[in-house]
Amino acid sequence: MEENFIPLSPDDTFSFSCTSCLACFNECCRDLNQYLTPYDILRLKNSLGISSGMFLKKYASYHTGPGSGLPVVTLKTDYGTGSICPFVMPSGCRVYKDRPSSCRIYPLARLVSLNRESGKFSEYYMMLKESHCFGFKDGSEHTVKKWIIEQDIEQYNRMNDMLMEIISLKNQTKPGELDIKSGYLFRTALYDIDAFRAQLFSNKIQTDDFNEEEIKAAKHDDTVLLKIAFSWVKQNLFIKTSSIDF
Ligand code: SF4
Ligand code: SF4
Repeated sequence: MEENFIPLSPDDTFSFSCTSCLACFNECCRDLNQYLTPYDILRLKNSLGISSGMFLKKYASYHTGPGSGLPVVTLKTDYGTGSICPFVMPSGCRVYKDRPSSCRIYPLARLVSLNRESGKFSEYYMMLKESHCFGFKDGSEHTVKKWIIEQDIEQYNRMNDMLMEIISLKNQTKPGELDIKSGYLFRTALYDIDAFRAQLFSNKIQTDDFNEEEIKAAKHDDTVLLKIAFSWVKQNLFIKTSSIDF
């Protein structure tokens, strides 16, 4: 599969339209190696109406990130059937409204770097031109900025940046692979968010770092809960040095 990466700035334009009339329809949903961020999992499990534990069991595989040494999650696909996404149907994506960040942003990709001194993120965009995708031919014109709004990506970016912050902190404080206990805590807090909620409300984890309002909201709001989980992981796995229990 031939690929071309073209750097774009926010005001640059590109031509692209994806429709079910194209001969390539659903081609991009096969041969997948799809990474899922904690926020991707949150949206997908809610879209499917199942718990995070069930989602992970049915649809996900854990790996260790080669660069970060942190647990990472990919979508489980069947190699024998062409690694097709479990959510693709003849009519298209069955989780379209909650599809993962990398599917939403396609044909763009977002790269992020964090300035350790200022704590500020810089973002860069690239257009990924793949030979199997016919969406570039006769497509309508978009700016990168407009695409981010049209595809409703901003919230994904903000949540995914919290993961980037943790990766950066982890690389500074704990290079290499996490020990077994820290790996388990990381996976549970960020990927198995319903299990983390159960721990939070059975007082099995320290909540001193969070205010009462946040904790109350986290009971019913998964996004607030995930923000707490990011903060908890940051504080307890990569900042505090005392031993922790879960
Ligand atoms: S145009 Fe590109 S993104 Fe759309 S279905 Fe075809 S391959 Fe997929
Ligand atoms: S989640 Fe949807 S858009 Fe993404 S690969 Fe699967 S079917 Fe395609």
